[in-house]
Amino acid sequence: MMKNIYFRSVIFFMMGMLMNACSYSENENGEKAIPITQVSLIPLPESVVYGTSNIILPNNMSVSQELPDLPAQLLKETLAEVMEIENTKSATNENAFIRISKDNALAEEGYRITVSAESIKIDYATSKGLLWGVQTLRQILLQNTVANNGDKTIPTLTISDTPKKTWRGFHIDVARHMFTIDYLKKIANCLSFYKINKLQLHLTDDQGWRIEIKKYPELTTIGGWREFDKYDKRCIELSQSDPDYTIDSRFIKNNNEYGGYYTQEELKDFIKYATERGIDVIPEIDMPGHFSAAIKAFPDLSCTGETGWGEEFSYPVCAGKTEYYQFFKDIIDEVTALFPSKYMHIGADEVEKHNWEKCERCQKLIREENLSNVEALQNYFVKEMANYVKSKGKKVMAWDDAFDAKAPQDILYTYWRDWLSDQPGKITQKGYPIVFMEWGRFYLSATPSDALLKSLYEFSFEPQFEGIVKNNVIGFQACVWTEMIPNERKFGQHVFPSLQAFSELAWGSRCEWNNFTSRLPWHLKWLAGNGIHSRTPGFIR
Ligand SMILES: [Zn+2]
Repeated sequence: MMKNIYFRSVIFFMMGMLMNACSYSENENGEKAIPITQVSLIPLPESVVYGTSNIILPNNMSVSQELPDLPAQLLKETLAEVMEIENTKSATNENAFIRISKDNALAEEGYRITVSAESIKIDYATSKGLLWGVQTLRQILLQNTVANNGDKTIPTLTISDTPKKTWRGFHIDVARHMFTIDYLKKIANCLSFYKINKLQLHLTDDQGWRIEIKKYPELTTIGGWREFDKYDKRCIELSQSDPDYTIDSRFIKNNNEYGGYYTQEELKDFIKYATERGIDVIPEIDMPGHFSAAIKAFPDLSCTGETGWGEEFSYPVCAGKTEYYQFFKDIIDEVTALFPSKYMHIGADEVEKHNWEKCERCQKLIREENLSNVEALQNYFVKEMANYVKSKGKKVMAWDDAFDAKAPQDILYTYWRDWLSDQPGKITQKGYPIVFMEWGRFYLSATPSDALLKSLYEFSFEPQFEGIVKNNVIGFQACVWTEMIPNERKFGQHVFPSLQAFSELAWGSRCEWNNFTSRLPWHLKWLAGNGIHSRTPGFIR
């Protein structure tokens, strides 16, 4: 990273305003021009070149009628807010103040914004790049400066931007605690504002089955509900002195039944909303472990015919009862039909295998299939399910627990177990792709702190993850596990502003920590203005 002083000398030497986005230059405004201001963009674009003065936003600003529906809607809403008007008019592309222009030389998600006195232009190659350009422009417009006479002004500038990685993911666990579809939409809107393009929904776990499966209604009528568990009781206890731990009462019925589920119609509505905002919603059905909610509804699925807890994790399904494989495939049928994503995540983490060691059915299958042990049995089960998901035309994802070095499968692994720091090296050296989300920094479930925020922002593979083949890391993901996150307020405190730090890491445009923190205050205000809770870092208070 070059030093600011170096940049400044380069800038003066070049007599231009070319600058790395990491370093903001000084103003060289003309005598009568409105002094240039700078905007706090997150994620930071690859390059921002400021002009010499601000422009006044015309009162009657028009938007190109060639903009697709959703970006046009977002932009018009922003303009209505900024200009304090009810409607923004559309105009032909040549006549509109905000116009667009296709440039096939740009990368798929790339865009260029040019703000001049005459117009605001967004160049793009695909609808994805256009959407991200609109999101950046919204940040610029919302950060307008109001002159003494009330004029709203923004800086003249040229932004060229493209992400370094294609996978910029976020993950929400709705099994431990549920959130309303309206809240999920609010979060999706925010993810899109920060150019996050993947959302993995952890829809099933021991604590609850959250997706309607029409063929097996008991999965939700029984599996969707629980009595308060130990984490719930801890939340209730803490809520006596800290209301931020209060369990959202919308998910409690009859005083002690807790949970609920999303109907397929509700999910369809959510998927449409998120997809329009550039987010690919990926379903996760966690199997063969973390399956107690379903086993509660269908006890025969487990080796022992009941739910239970082993030494570390819950009883998994019996991998030896192959007559139930169709049950899982029926679920996959409905899930893959509902989610248009080309990905489906099948979990495969933390499978307690002691039952399998003792189970006659599991041992019989191990003999029949010539498998070496229960680990190979897990790989067998995963392969059966993975092949079925693939037969639906989808790509399969699984937690890195499913990676069997002796018999690796064509799976996109989500790496999380940071105590196995050689695991990403093992997977990527064999040529398999991973999405990187190590527990220590990318899991936004620990008590948030400034130190954690900084360590996420400054994340580096070295020295902890030596040997990783970076070209096989297709991107990053931040994960929220909700055992101790029982409501929206707590969710916001865990996720924000970590998400802002993460978005910049994932987009690939990080610079110095102090530069990031200087851009953060406006974004915390934006969250608050949009009804999203956040933690205020100590360096901002
Ligand atoms: Zn078994």
